[in-house]
Amino acid sequence: MIPIVNVPIQYLSLKKDLARAIESDHLSLYYQPQVEMKNRHIAGIEGLVRWNHPNYGVVPPSSFIPIAEENGLIVQLGLWVMREGCMANHRFTALGLPPLPVSINISPIQLNSPAFLDDLHRIIQETGVDTQLLELEITESVEINKVDRISRMLRKVRNMGIRTAIDDFGAGLSNYHRLRHLPVDRLKLDRSLIRDIHTSDNQRFIVSAIILLANRMGIDVIAEGVEQAEQERVLLELGCSLAQGFYYGQPMTCSQWENYYSHHLGL
Ligand code: C2E
Ligand code: CA
Ligand code: CA
Ligand code: CA
Repeated sequence: MIPIVNVPIQYLSLKKDLARAIESDHLSLYYQPQVEMKNRHIAGIEGLVRWNHPNYGVVPPSSFIPIAEENGLIVQLGLWVMREGCMANHRFTALGLPPLPVSINISPIQLNSPAFLDDLHRIIQETGVDTQLLELEITESVEINKVDRISRMLRKVRNMGIRTAIDDFGAGLSNYHRLRHLPVDRLKLDRSLIRDIHTSDNQRFIVSAIILLANRMGIDVIAEGVEQAEQERVLLELGCSLAQGFYYGQPMTCSQWENYYSHHLGL
């Protein structure tokens, strides 16, 4: 137990407020572009949740996702995110913008909840989303003893036409068991792998090997956390064609995204 005096007051307050925030729609989904590096075409977007707190302003997910995972609210929060992500293309097409693949983040705890597949199925029905344009990102930290169960779930997800991705690949100690057994369409190379790719030979060799391995397995690769032209250049050299990062665009609100996207398309 953490002594109560050491727990920041903000943590206690967030914990108390979170349930209400989900109910009163104080969440928003920001969008960050995923681009084809060679021509800068937008290949998709990732939805990233934010909490618009009445006292603290915009709270980043790192401050409340762990709380939500701890107290089980992640399931309810995850449903909100799924629904919002599934609605995104309806908003874009209403503005005359072409639909795009949308990636959303799924917490391992959410994936483990017994109702997950039913919930997903229901939201697909209710929103009428084109499942071909939906991708679920799961973190690599899936517990090793749950790999079988998660594999079965992901297979069902794929049978619905939805793509699957391993998020944060290469963060911490990678276990290639997961890569071998999880049915996924994409690997997202963690930012920590990309950071020194242009300055460290060894780092470049590691990333190069992961890209080759994924290609051999028929798995697409997208680099995360690309912040500089030099990193882009190295990734292209290594045969990685997709990237996400501040170099291309920060996560933006839905309306900022619509502006960015229409500007990008020359509309
Ligand atoms: P993630 O899924 O790995 O998302 C990428 C994070 O990296 C985002 O942080 C994004 O703003 C940040 N980022 C993107 N490009 C760059 C870059 O070039 N440089 C740097 N330094 N950072 C970059 P964010 O939005 O704060 O999200 C943090 C994490 O919170 C996410 O990591 C994800 O694990 C979790 N998260 C976000 N939204 C959701 C959600 O809807 N559901 C769940 N379960 N988790 C979420
Ligand atoms: Ca992600
Ligand atoms: Ca990631
Ligand atoms: Ca993450």
